[in-house]
Amino acid sequence: MSPKEIALAVTDSPQSGKRTAFDPPTVPRILVIDDNSAILDAFQKIFTESSRADSRVERLNDLETSLFGGSTAPHPRPPSFQVDLIADGEEGRDRVQRAVHEGAPYSVAFVDIRMPGGWNGLKTIEELWRVDPNIQVVICTAYSDYSWHQIVARLGRSDRMLILRKPFEHIEVIQLACALSDKWQLLKERQSRLAELELRVEERTRHLRKALGVRKAYEKRLHHQANYDSLTGLPNRNLLFDHLQQALVRAQHGGSMIAVVFLDLDRFKLINDSLGHDTGDALLKCVAKRLSSVLRVEDTLSRPSGDEFVILLEGLQTEQQIQQLAERIRRSLKAPFSLSGQAFFINASIGISCYPEDGDNAATLLKQADTALHRVKDLGRDGIQFFASEMSRQVEQRLTLANSLCGALERNELELYYQPQVDLQSGAIVGAEALLRWHHADRGMIPPTEFIPLAEETGLIVPIGEWVLRQACRQARTWQQMGLPPLTISVNLSTRQFLQADLKQRIVQALEETGLAARYLELEITESHLMHDTNGAISTLQALKEIGVRMAVDDFGTGYSSLNYLKCLPLDRLKIDKSFVQDILNVPGDRAIAQAIIALAHNLQLEVIAEGVETQGQQDFLKDKRCNLMQGYYFSKPLPASEITRLLCNNLAGRRRAFIDSE
Ligand code: C2E
Ligand code: MG
Ligand code: MG
Repeated sequence: MSPKEIALAVTDSPQSGKRTAFDPPTVPRILVIDDNSAILDAFQKIFTESSRADSRVERLNDLETSLFGGSTAPHPRPPSFQVDLIADGEEGRDRVQRAVHEGAPYSVAFVDIRMPGGWNGLKTIEELWRVDPNIQVVICTAYSDYSWHQIVARLGRSDRMLILRKPFEHIEVIQLACALSDKWQLLKERQSRLAELELRVEERTRHLRKALGVRKAYEKRLHHQANYDSLTGLPNRNLLFDHLQQALVRAQHGGSMIAVVFLDLDRFKLINDSLGHDTGDALLKCVAKRLSSVLRVEDTLSRPSGDEFVILLEGLQTEQQIQQLAERIRRSLKAPFSLSGQAFFINASIGISCYPEDGDNAATLLKQADTALHRVKDLGRDGIQFFASEMSRQVEQRLTLANSLCGALERNELELYYQPQVDLQSGAIVGAEALLRWHHADRGMIPPTEFIPLAEETGLIVPIGEWVLRQACRQARTWQQMGLPPLTISVNLSTRQFLQADLKQRIVQALEETGLAARYLELEITESHLMHDTNGAISTLQALKEIGVRMAVDDFGTGYSSLNYLKCLPLDRLKIDKSFVQDILNVPGDRAIAQAIIALAHNLQLEVIAEGVETQGQQDFLKDKRCNLMQGYYFSKPLPASEITRLLCNNLAGRRRAFIDSE
């Protein structure tokens, strides 16, 4: 039997006022599946009548509107449906499937339970739900082939089906069609809203997940910033503290030792100040890399600040093992660092504290290692020291000393001593080096080796150095005014002074104020300071040479002079360090170095002076090797101004007598 289709008038369904994401067909679609053509006809009649009634009501409403102008309430419309009539279950399934596919699904299917020759009603319903689980089903039975229990056992308990007993009333069919269509539509709307909600939830979740990811990354970055040094990527002070505390717990359980190795780069500030922070940073990175390469996996390398590195050594048994490892660390930095084609030499001072001897908590161990480090610095840097409890006392003393150095100038506790410089060939005093002395109220005379480094660290060296410069120039001028032969006065310049941008003006001012001619002033700068920034040094020296002052390199032989640069520096004099002079007669190496410095100076057209000459033998040797000048205890210790003045007068008188005698 061919399907009968009733295309009924399309009218607004009662539920279609509000449109949702789900846009249902305006007229509910009904499918009737029954192998009995008489029953199909009956369905057709029922729905056609309903449809006709609908168009009659419409006409009535139109008439009333034209007569009364829409002042009366419209008559309610009977329901209308789009109905398809099918005789076969399988074809019914195909129709339902196609309708779903086309986006205009059926809302209700009336299915005959007995359809011999094809699928029976139950099989048909199963298949319909398989292709469209939303379709509402009315099972039409003439008599009960299947009990309700059997139906439920086969199709499951479902609110999508109802039973309609044949013979049925027209009104029953229309009511079922209306109620189930409404239910179907509400269901679809609910599903559509649910889908919409799910979409929103999904979108929100995605958004939250993204925000969470950003937050996590941010937290990770914060954590990294709080615990790692941004320059080298090494643990910072925070993390070092944590690691040390954890290491202490492990050591307490295992009864092992921990060493806290505090390493500070010597004179690193000089590199930063003279070559700029970029070079300083690059060097720090290289140092971090070099240090990591000599450490064991179990060691922790950290950079708590500036040019300080702290290394935790765990699992070592003896102090000797720690010492060896610390030596290896120190030696690793000895090889030059190459940056932008320039070689840098770095020394390190290392202070070590050990658990359990020096403390049982992180703060104390770090403090003691720092104290040991300061001890190394006091002893001249570039060394290793283990913490010893008497060091704490020394640290306190150092602090007290720094405090009292602040007022030393105002309290007139500083004095200049002068040490003569003698021409080795003529024996005449041709110059004097101004050497600073501090008369401390409680401690008596404090040597410059003790307080000059302190003054450098605190910055006090600048006002103190300024005072020294004026005082020395004034003294030299006084001697000239006394009629003594003019001497060259040598003044030591600290690194900080040398790096001052207005150094030239300051010196010009001191010379003007004291009335000393520039050629009688010699400025001494140590070799290691010059070599840290050769280019900067060249321009400073050139500026100073323009004034007419003389320049000398102090402690020559102890730094790492690049001979190549030496020839570019506008110098007048090299001072052979006293450490080579001391054993010049006994140690062949020292002798060779002294001789080499003399030869080098002469080849560069420079004068050479030997410091620390204490014996006749040393003086004779130097004279023999054509060293120009000497300075040392053998001739005279550094003396106060009054005493050296007397010495100069006596020396002059003696020389006059010798001259008269020779006449
Ligand atoms: P320096 O400039 O190398 O001075 C030479 C040092 O050797 C002086 O030590 C001097 O007393 C010492 N000396 C001289 N002859 C002999 C000798 O025959 N044997 C021995 N063993 N030593 C001798 P001093 O006066 O203790 O000064 C030490 C250092 O302190 C100086 O070394 C210099 O670097 C620094 N210094 C002294 N005065 C000043 C100053 O006014 N400003 C600055 N920036 N540094 C200063
Ligand atoms: Mg000197
Ligand atoms: Mg010297």
